[in-house]
Amino acid sequence: MSRKIEIDGSLTLSALAEQLELPPTTLVAELFKNGVMITLNEKIDIDTASILVDELGLEVELVQKEADVQESSVATQKQEREGAKLDARPPVVAVMGHVDHGKTSLLDKIRGGSVAEGEAGGITQHISAYQVQHGDRAITFMDTPGHEAFAAIREHGAALTDLAVIVIAADDGIKPQTKEAIRFAKKAGVKMIVAANKVDKEAANIDRLKQQLAEIEMLPEDWGGDTVIVPVSAKTGEGIDKLMEMILLISDVEEFKADSRGDAEGLVIEARMQTGMGPTAVVLVQEGVLNQGDFVVAGKVYGKVRVLKDSYGKTIKLAGPSSPALVCGLKSLPDFGDSFRVVASEKQAKKLAAEAQSRGVSSSDMTSTELLRIISKRTKVDEFNILVKADVQGSLTSVIDSIKSLDTEEIASRVVGSGVGSIGENDVRSAAASEAVIYGFNLDVSASIRRLATQEGVEIKIFTVIYELLDDVRTSLEELLSPEEVITELGKLKVKGVFNTTKTEVICGGEVTEGTLRLPSNVRIIRDKKKIAEAVVTNLKKGPQDTHEVNKGEMCGLNLATETKTVLQEGDRLEFYSSELKERKLS
Ligand code: GDP
Repeated sequence: MSRKIEIDGSLTLSALAEQLELPPTTLVAELFKNGVMITLNEKIDIDTASILVDELGLEVELVQKEADVQESSVATQKQEREGAKLDARPPVVAVMGHVDHGKTSLLDKIRGGSVAEGEAGGITQHISAYQVQHGDRAITFMDTPGHEAFAAIREHGAALTDLAVIVIAADDGIKPQTKEAIRFAKKAGVKMIVAANKVDKEAANIDRLKQQLAEIEMLPEDWGGDTVIVPVSAKTGEGIDKLMEMILLISDVEEFKADSRGDAEGLVIEARMQTGMGPTAVVLVQEGVLNQGDFVVAGKVYGKVRVLKDSYGKTIKLAGPSSPALVCGLKSLPDFGDSFRVVASEKQAKKLAAEAQSRGVSSSDMTSTELLRIISKRTKVDEFNILVKADVQGSLTSVIDSIKSLDTEEIASRVVGSGVGSIGENDVRSAAASEAVIYGFNLDVSASIRRLATQEGVEIKIFTVIYELLDDVRTSLEELLSPEEVITELGKLKVKGVFNTTKTEVICGGEVTEGTLRLPSNVRIIRDKKKIAEAVVTNLKKGPQDTHEVNKGEMCGLNLATETKTVLQEGDRLEFYSSELKERKLS
């Protein structure tokens, strides 16, 4: 049984340690291990704390004190909602997978089909979520990088996505980012469907893919597990109907429901300044109905819904549960992942926004998104996010193609955005959201954009020669490569006497039978041709004299630092080696 601890808003690391009954240094050390430096007096929020508790493997559940969650009026509405009759709502689906496995193509195909059936005129505007019809039912797809969607879930404790479609190219199989996507989905506790894409290709091999899935505890349904695999082709459209049906089938089983009356609440999934429209936000309605004319508060921002549009850019009057909608009329830009809700009056909206502002987490505080990102960096294949802008289409295409050619199995750059023309505010904001570096080719950058980039912590690099740009990308990729451990064998020794053994140290002596022993070095302790332990050599002695080197044929005394008590015997062999970390180069 896990222990529950109530937390009152955000709290300092030392307060958390007290609650957990742990020495504060344990928490600092755990964070430090993950490359995060936080002092005891710095505040962290409940989600960050929960991640930390997870990482420490504690059986503790952190819960926010109810009063902190929302103001009482909302709490009442919540209670009413809980009592109210709930209606089935469309599922919200995130599409994730390794780069080039066909996420974009699949989403385009799905959307294209829907547009062709529905509105003539097609897509007028790209927004990061859209709803498609399948028969008489709707499905909402998130066109947001999966990890952002999931980070938002952690950040706000809200279920932004119900289902994850993991796209895997059947001719390529499981790749590092596929595993990362699966890890994210598992961590967020959402159901997964595997779309085995590119089945039109000759090299597609579904059986091999099933085998690979089985190896990572995703046993296929037809092998007795519960992983649903749908073979599809984003190119020919094969299997896409089946994929939609599976999504709806799982939704029926999971019974996704929401209140389709009452005031809307939901999450901000995109925000940007738009010419002629001012601050616009794409929101996902989770409960209730959002109407044109409603007063809303979104995080620290408020406003009135002046214009409401659906995911195809069509003006609408209202948006119900699971619907993405574009909202104009906010006073400024909210943040990705902010929750929004409708309130009774402009005055109330303004007041709540001001309160959120004053209680807001200051920028120096660690957020859970950041922590998740750092923690996930340890295990995932490193990825270098890039946003590319160029003067003309031709150079843009060749810059992107050449950048992609640098990818290797272990490390890849991901072009999170690209375009022709000068670097704008949106570019900086989206680079900030995806932690990308902006590469500009043959462009100038205005001083105001430089300032914004500095504020947002985004690096802008401008080049006029393509191979210089590529060199820079290559260097950045190499910096992300984990260093290589280079082992050099030094020599061997036969133990002739053991003088002292403690928990962490052995003092012994022997004869060098091969090579040269040197300080500093590591040692493998071998008995009957098997390694029984490893140790670090901390001192070498020839006679009574300390030394740094002992050659073949000579006798010496040595001190070994061991991790646990290790009892050596006469006749044991010690193999000396040095280990060095070396930076690697891209081949
Ligand atoms: P993403 O990086 O996952 O978004 O992948 P993209 O959608 O950009 O696709 C990468 C490449 O694979 C593109 O060249 C697509 O044309 C190609 N592709 C995607 N789906 C299919 C498919 O089902 N069949 C074939 N033959 N090619 C595909």
